[in-house]
Amino acid sequence: SFSELPTVKPDAAFTLLAAYKIDTNPNKVDLCPGFYRDENGRPWIMSSVIQLIPRIQAKERVHADPNVNHEHLPLAGHTELLRQSKELVFGKEDRDLKRVASIQTVSGTGANHLAALFLSTKLNPKTVWFPNLGWINHTEIWKLAGSHVQQRFYPYFNAENQNIDFDTMVEVLQEAQKGDVIVLHACAHNPTGVDLSKEQWDNLATICKNTGLFPVFDLAYQGLASGDVRQDASAISDFFDRGGLEFAVAQSYSKIFGLYGERIGMLHIAALDVTATAKITPVLTQLSRAEITSCPSYGARIVSQILGDLKLYDQWLKDLATMNNRMKTMREGLYHGLLVRKVQGSWKHILTDTGMFSMTGLSTTQVTAMKEKHHIYLLPSGRISVTGLTTRNIDHVVAALEDILGT
Ligand code: PMP
Repeated sequence: SFSELPTVKPDAAFTLLAAYKIDTNPNKVDLCPGFYRDENGRPWIMSSVIQLIPRIQAKERVHADPNVNHEHLPLAGHTELLRQSKELVFGKEDRDLKRVASIQTVSGTGANHLAALFLSTKLNPKTVWFPNLGWINHTEIWKLAGSHVQQRFYPYFNAENQNIDFDTMVEVLQEAQKGDVIVLHACAHNPTGVDLSKEQWDNLATICKNTGLFPVFDLAYQGLASGDVRQDASAISDFFDRGGLEFAVAQSYSKIFGLYGERIGMLHIAALDVTATAKITPVLTQLSRAEITSCPSYGARIVSQILGDLKLYDQWLKDLATMNNRMKTMREGLYHGLLVRKVQGSWKHILTDTGMFSMTGLSTTQVTAMKEKHHIYLLPSGRISVTGLTTRNIDHVVAALEDILGT
């Protein structure tokens, strides 16, 4: 009977979110979210999206546009968005984007899932390699969609120096075999906020090519690392431009358009030539058809119209800048607060980390104390999301860290 099912551990982040919601303390602070929060700690709808939605609704009301309806999207997804996404991810300057097979997915999670399903059955890797540390859902996704593939971790984050252990990473990856898969965060690494340098990416590309390792880039924060959408995908375009390297990109539009609930993403497979893409696309479509038939259309329509309209595109870049500037201000505020109070630890990385996240170095006991004593919620790993900080709560957070870590 189902009563004999093993007990499943609840998801750490979503459990904390639920606990935060029912916490009645007025000084509570949520430093968990992988979602952007505004200066009032609330979800933020981008101006570009707000400007667009009434247009879509108006067209829907008066049937002014035959393309605005609630029919299925094609099996491969929103046709225009597929083209726009390739250009956004790979860059359009002189690149042969016909070498890329793309399909719309149920956001970044769905893109990772479809990548795991496709690669585990069609590439037959012995091992899939994840960064240590990394996004906790990658291992879960591969357990589900590539259960026969062995999972291993490659060294990535050096907690002591708050940087990347690149030499050890390279050393361990020597154990990888031809056809193994390596999962990489293209930018704004979750949870550490520490990305590979251009030189390290170049070295890694050579390793992948020489070993026959198949890279899967997870691209969930394009535009939220350096602030420049092209720069944040430069590892991907560099891998592409080298030629002779096949790889996948699991792209998410959740964070970069603030459209988390609409579930918009893409899986791209960069192949060696057009003959290969012609083979790959029908396989991806077949796998996706069996699982979801077609993707949600509303969010795809929003993103496609913003990317395709010069004025809205410009507004979107400004929206990204608004988010980046607020996160930068919060990083600076946190760093200076910790410095002024001489809180134990080295905090320089708070300024240089990219994206939403940074590691605090807090132990699980200290994380629990932050919650129990100060009503400040962070993940058990000690990760904070700087989007949870506001000008009103930052002093409370610094004072709490002083209390827990000492001076
Ligand atoms: N990859 C990484 C590294 C992430 O942090 C996230 C979101 N937390 C995702 C993928 C997927 O998010 P979504 O499914 O909402 O696009």
